[in-house]
Order: sequence, then C-alpha cells, then structure tokens
Amino acid sequence: MRLRTFESFWLVKNGLLHSYPSLQEDLQSEIIVIGGGITGALISHALLKEGYEVTLLDKRDIGQGSTAATTSMLQYEIDVPLYQLADLIGEAAAVRCYKAGIRAIDELSRLVALEKLDCGFKEKQSLYFAHDDKAAEWLRREYEIRDRHQLGVEWLPAAGVAAQYQLQTSGGIRSAKAASMDAYKFTHELLQRNRQKGLQVYDQTEIAAIDYHKDGVALQLANGHKAHCKKIVFCSGYETVSFFPEKTARLFSTFACVSETGIRIPQELREVLIWNTEKPYIYMRTTDDGRLLIGGADSPFNSGSFRERVKEKKTAALLKKLGNFLPGVRFIDDFSWAGCFGATRDGLPFIGKHDKYPNALFVLGFGGNGITFSIQGMELILKLLRGEQDPLLELYRFGR
Ligand SMILES: Cc1cc2nc3c(=O)[nH]c(=O)nc-3n(C[C@H](O)[C@H](O)[C@H](O)COP(=O)(O)OP(=O)(O)OC[C@H]3O[C@@H](n4cnc5c(N)ncnc54)[C@H](O)[C@@H]3O)c2cc1C
Repeated sequence: MRLRTFESFWLVKNGLLHSYPSLQEDLQSEIIVIGGGITGALISHALLKEGYEVTLLDKRDIGQGSTAATTSMLQYEIDVPLYQLADLIGEAAAVRCYKAGIRAIDELSRLVALEKLDCGFKEKQSLYFAHDDKAAEWLRREYEIRDRHQLGVEWLPAAGVAAQYQLQTSGGIRSAKAASMDAYKFTHELLQRNRQKGLQVYDQTEIAAIDYHKDGVALQLANGHKAHCKKIVFCSGYETVSFFPEKTARLFSTFACVSETGIRIPQELREVLIWNTEKPYIYMRTTDDGRLLIGGADSPFNSGSFRERVKEKKTAALLKKLGNFLPGVRFIDDFSWAGCFGATRDGLPFIGKHDKYPNALFVLGFGGNGITFSIQGMELILKLLRGEQDPLLELYRFGR
C-alpha cells in the first residue's frame, strides 16, 4: 500500500514557516487587508511602503489558501492568447495587458533582490508549444502578433523544440521573460520583513459580519471583538466570487504532481516554463531542488471531495500526457495535490472598487497567471487610494 499525502508539495517541504497570533482584542487600523496569501502579502507590502497603517487578517493560517497549492509559474502570458484578447478588447488594450505582465515579473525580481527573500526565485524563459499541427496554425498567428509588438518572442519549429528540449511538439513560441519561485515561502518571507516594519498580521481570525458605511468599514469578528478601518482591501482569493451578484469567474479544479528529486531530464528544461495548446492545457516546470512539476487535467467540478476522489486518476492522466510529449523520461511521482482555480472570460483579473461595497477595494488575480496580476495590483491599489486613473484599472474593473 502506498501512503501518500494530498497536501501540496510546498506545505510539506516548508512546513509551518512562521506562526502568527489570532486577533483577541478590538482593533482600529487605517487599512485592513483580508487574506494572507501571496496577494495579501504583496498588497500590504505596497501599502506599508506608501506610509499607510496596515493590518492583515486571515481566517486560516497564513499562506494556506491557493498560495500553498500554486505551481508559481510567473508568466506575462495570459490564458487568453493575445490575438483573441485583441478581438475581445482591442489590440492596443490587449498588448497593454501583456506588457503589464512583463513589467510585473521585473518588479517581482527587484522586490526579491531588494528584500533578500529566500524563495527559490529564478528568472526563466517560457515555451508555449502546439500539441498538434492544427494548433500550430493559430499559435503561429499568436507568435506573429506578439512579435509585431516586441514581446521578446521567437518561433521554434518542431525540430528546434525537439533538438533543444527533447519535447515532441508541433512547434512553439519561446518567450524571454518568465520566472518561477516558491510562492508559499515568498509570502511568509515578505510578511516577516513587513512585520518588522509595523505590519500587523493575525491569522485564524474569522469575520462574522461586515458593515460598510460612508466613513469606513466595521468588522464584527466571530470571537466577539470588533475591528474598524477607513478602507478594506480584499485579497481573499477564489472564495470572493460569492460576494458579487454578477458572474466574475468560473471556478474549477486543477491537479498537480511533482517528481522525486534527481529526475533525469535535459538541462535546458530546467531553464524554461512549459505549457501547451491543449484544452485544458498542461503546465510544467522544475523546482530548485531538482524535481519536475507538472499540472493540468482540469475538471469543471469545484469540490474538495471530488478532487480527493479523482486525484490518482488525474495524476495518471498527467503522467500519460507527459510520456506523449517527453518520451523516455522516468517520472517517479512524489507528491500530488489539487486546488480550486478561477478563470475569467477574458483571462483578466478584477482589481478595483465594486458599487455594492463602499470603502472596499478588491485585488482578485484570477487565471493562470494570478500571481503576475497580484503584482500589478500593488501599483494599482495605490492609484485607487490616491484617486488616480490607470488604463489597466479600466480593463480590470468590475462590470466590464
Ligand atoms: C494547482 C494550482 C496551480 C496554480 N499555478 C499557478 C501558476 O503557475 N502561476 C500563477 O500565477 N498562478 C497559479 N495558480 C493560481 C494562484 O495559486 C493564485 O493566483 C494565487 O495563489 C492567489 O493568491 P491569493 O493570495 O489571491 O489567494 P489565496 O492564497 O487563496 O489567499 C486568500 C486568503 O484569503 C483568506 N480568506 C478568504 N476569505 C476570507 C475571509 N472572509 N476572512 C478572512 N480571510 C479570508 C483565505 O483563508 C486565504 O488564505 C495556481 C493555482 C492552483 C490551485
């Protein structure tokens, strides 16, 4: 019998990195950030740096939401291809979103270096490959629009991909800008730095009710205490979709597994993030301790018990796919896990205000590059608080 955890690899690898208290008194803070995942860590960092008094609350332990499950592929590429996004929102706007992703990866790289965050951050390239010849036709079109807008891409024909990565594909787009890291560790590291600078962090703190009024926001905690702030910023992840009367994101399940260390793969694969044109797509990267991580096999059902039930089948499906495009590699499965995943129609996040909630702001980085959107949220949240405009705020607004 094989006894194996369904916890994410990052949780098992890192354990409980830091402990934070729960809130056991009444509290007054200029800004309260809800959510202690990577988005809450990034946003509270930006707010604190700007001089705001900030308190972060989470109902779970810190980093135990999607941040513990993510494969942390940091890509400028949005789930909706640029040529399709251009059809939806116009070419200039679509290019703006893609370019914002490139800037976000640079921004994160600077932040990791400046704060000396030990989180396995590594700049890489990315390869978006066509899984068959039909897909190669539209992917070539995608390459052309990206190239025209100088997004740092090159087209690799099937033979080129095979020669460099030993991958069996129908060709692909290689992008110069991408990165990967351990998002769970990053979150704890960044929160620790900011606690030293005055950020208050409380986990295991359940909110029972919220009253939005014209001067601020009053929170009733489940333990009877009260908290009050001028502005509340929701970095509360996929659960937040239930707040809104309108449809924001579709929630489904995605699955991931990671090999044992020391897997034998071409060295070039360690320098690149891989994803493909299948629907649902497969995504793949290496870790800084020498493992291969593969994810995908998405299912439209969003339920924890469903994920638990089908995990073995999904891992087998992922490994079968891997064998098709990377034949001959012996992948010994070490950890497998799954999580909820949210996608929007246009692949873009929701960042901004919502009419229903005065004095509340939202940073909801849905989609395959949720983390890249959360990084963009740092600058955008400051603009929202200053009352400044930004074309991205128009593109990421509710009700678009
Ligand atoms: C298997 C998998 C692979 C992924 N791969 C990638 C990838 O390669 N690249 C990428 O960019 N993204 C990826 N994602 C998406 C990525 O995980 C998310 O975009 C990211 O983790 C979101 O972070 P967050 O902080 O917004 O949400 P979370 O980490 O979920 O944090 C939200 C926090 O808010 C708290 N919270 C919610 N409601 C309340 C409340 N009412 N009161 C108090 N606290 C509350 C939760 O407890 C939670 O800790 C992946 C996701 C999964 C599941």
